[in-house]
Amino acid sequence: LDFTLSESQEAYKRTVVEVAKKLRANNHFDEESIEHYKAVLDSIVEGNLFDPLLAEDGEGIGKSFAVITARESFSRYYPFADFVFAEQALAIIPFLLFGNSEQKQEFLPPLINGNLIGGFALTEETSGSDASSLSCKAEKTDDGGYLLTGKKMWISNAPIGDLFIVFARTGEDKRKGVSAFIVDANESGIIKNTIHLAAPHPIGELIFDHFKVDSSRVLGAEGEGFKIAMASLDILRPGVGAHAIGTSKSALDYIIPFTQERISFNQPLSSYQSIQFKMADMYTKIRTAQWLVYHCAWKRDSGMKSTIESSMAKMYATEKANEILYDCTQINGARGVVKDSHLEKLSRVIRPASIYEGTTDVQKMVIHRQLTKMFEEEGEIL
Ligand SMILES: Cc1cc2nc3c(=O)[nH]c(=O)nc-3n(C[C@H](O)[C@H](O)[C@H](O)COP(=O)(O)OP(=O)(O)OC[C@H]3O[C@@H](n4cnc5c(N)ncnc54)[C@H](O)[C@@H]3O)c2cc1C
Repeated sequence: LDFTLSESQEAYKRTVVEVAKKLRANNHFDEESIEHYKAVLDSIVEGNLFDPLLAEDGEGIGKSFAVITARESFSRYYPFADFVFAEQALAIIPFLLFGNSEQKQEFLPPLINGNLIGGFALTEETSGSDASSLSCKAEKTDDGGYLLTGKKMWISNAPIGDLFIVFARTGEDKRKGVSAFIVDANESGIIKNTIHLAAPHPIGELIFDHFKVDSSRVLGAEGEGFKIAMASLDILRPGVGAHAIGTSKSALDYIIPFTQERISFNQPLSSYQSIQFKMADMYTKIRTAQWLVYHCAWKRDSGMKSTIESSMAKMYATEKANEILYDCTQINGARGVVKDSHLEKLSRVIRPASIYEGTTDVQKMVIHRQLTKMFEEEGEIL
């Protein structure tokens, strides 16, 4: 395995870091407005930073490793930029995987050049981890179109987005009865409710009541919706791991000088073995997470299946990042719980990462399923 960055990857990473640091200098951390989202989106677009999401032909999936690099660096220096990057990617990836050429031509350019804010609407109030139990329904009309009725909940960008991939029931079968629809959220008839999270994260509900969707707006074939959702999340999960690594590094970068400067019982905190061991554990967690995430990206970029790696990377990196934030905050004493202090902000950002795009329990279900399959096929685990 070689995780050395090529010259062009190095140049890409440098631009990501530059953009993130420039955004950090303006520091609008808790700003959830559409104007802030657009300003961050414009900075990403100006740097051509979405380019690696797409293959060179502009139609297929790009290189995972570059995406990982971007998400890690954005999260380290300006986590909101990672959120914007990831949200656009959540709308772009399903098109790359299942869009027909007209759909790709119509929707990919505006998502990539920042003219449309995207989103991915799968979850409902009673359908979270058990994602195929959704009840939002799409009824066929005489002209071949659909009428969408139901409520999507916990949808990132719901209050500000222009375009959503909405998953709805078109048949009885739990999984094969789900289809994906391209929905223009600026058309009238959709109710959008905001939910305020602890982290800066525009999110909310989308409510449809007999909302008309043209037959040309079905993504993939009717009945492929669940497959589209799972395939897209499989690709995006290691990116959440990279987000967790960037956040963890930012916490450690911050706490190292503090342990050297803070005197307690006449000595710097860094002289105490209990503190040294905590730091050693934290860095080992970061490097282990890095191996899992990079290995997953490397497998995908080498054309290998990486479902088990994707779930392990997401689960491990996000769980460890939460532990790291807990430990860094503990070392920082009272300062770490002051509202808007560096660690308090990072703690708010990282907590939901173990919940969205499949909770830690859901990742364990995927890992166990893959492990069992591997054992059946190989006669032993790899
Ligand atoms: C910040 C944020 C952004 C999000 N953005 C989006 C988005 O853009 N689009 C979208 O569609 N959704 C989004 N979500 C929703 C997210 O995907 C769901 O919250 C997630 O899938 C979990 O569903 P739930 O919250 O309903 O929890 P539940 O499914 O109700 O789970 C509750 C708890 O029970 C556990 N659990 C459930 N089933 C089992 C089981 N069989 N065995 C063991 N434990 C189990 C879960 O792991 C969890 O700990 C977002 C959520 C957050 C927090």
